[in-house]
Amino acid sequence: MYIYIHIPFCSHICSYCDFPKLLYDKKYINSYLECLKQEIKKRYKEEQVASIYIGGGTPTSLDRNELKHLLDITTIFHKKKKIEFTIESNVESLTKEKIQLLHTYGVNRVSLGVQSFHENTLKELNRHHTKEEVFQVIKNLKQTGISNISIDYIYGVHPNLKEVKEDLETYLQLEIPHISCYSLIIEEGTIFGIKKRKYIDEAIDDKMYHTIEKILKKNHYIHYEISNYAKEGYQSIHNINYWKNGEYYGFGLGTVSFINNTRITNTKSLTKYLENQYHLTKEYENRNIQISNTFMLGLRLVKGINIIEFKKRYQQDIKEITPVKELLKQKKLVLKNNQLFIPSKYLYLSNEIIIKFI
Ligand code: SF4
Repeated sequence: MYIYIHIPFCSHICSYCDFPKLLYDKKYINSYLECLKQEIKKRYKEEQVASIYIGGGTPTSLDRNELKHLLDITTIFHKKKKIEFTIESNVESLTKEKIQLLHTYGVNRVSLGVQSFHENTLKELNRHHTKEEVFQVIKNLKQTGISNISIDYIYGVHPNLKEVKEDLETYLQLEIPHISCYSLIIEEGTIFGIKKRKYIDEAIDDKMYHTIEKILKKNHYIHYEISNYAKEGYQSIHNINYWKNGEYYGFGLGTVSFINNTRITNTKSLTKYLENQYHLTKEYENRNIQISNTFMLGLRLVKGINIIEFKKRYQQDIKEITPVKELLKQKKLVLKNNQLFIPSKYLYLSNEIIIKFI
């Protein structure tokens, strides 16, 4: 089984962020964690756990004692020997002391919200770290024994390809096995949205995507999902389960769980959550929705969907699903080695293909 835990608290609000989050406020932390513990005790059915992913918000914005409280809660889970145990973090809150604590509780993967190595861009994104601090934190992680490290990177903040190339050069110096690269999205209600920030030209964004792909592949990173690159053996086990439309628990504010073909969404109201009223909606997904989600998620993977697994799961040949045959004819889908996937020349435009399966 796969476990996602949401810690919605952040020390500050980033300019582009539309995730469910709350500004860190000490008075709520321990009661939130106690409710989280109750929710887990109530819903978790003692399955063997292949991955735990603590996301946010910024889980490491918790102080040392609060973080220990959270990590104590994760001891409820029956962890498989080779578990992937990830925590998301920003750079400035990840102290040596917290790194040691994470390591003690078996956290073996850290996803850092770096986003850029350029000072001006970091300011515009309202991120509070420097390039030097990124290098120091990664050194501290490696010295403590956590080397499975990923960073998040945002491109397209400025129409400047040179900036992207410099950022990748800096990233390669870190010698870490994973990176997630996202094109800037400007959502309503975010600081950028309110300021009516404009997107860069699509052609430049396209060029940036392909430059990133070329440089990372040249440095032996596998492009395994539209936005994700990893060294061999470091692909995110947790996220691959999502992209394979697999089952998982989501615990905490605003999380989603997918169990027995039922998608359960938790409340986004902190008040309700602190009253142990966790669930907002519970929706059983019929076969058509399951198949649609399998395509929508599975085609994000560069390898695509395994047609034997598909047949086993749905007792149907994948080519019979509309519009697979049409897209194969248009060469926008390829069937090779039992995998149905979007060829690399169309990956940048994959949304236009994936939307046909919704
Ligand atoms: S991007 Fe992350 S750290 Fe920034 S406000 Fe959003 S959830 Fe918090």
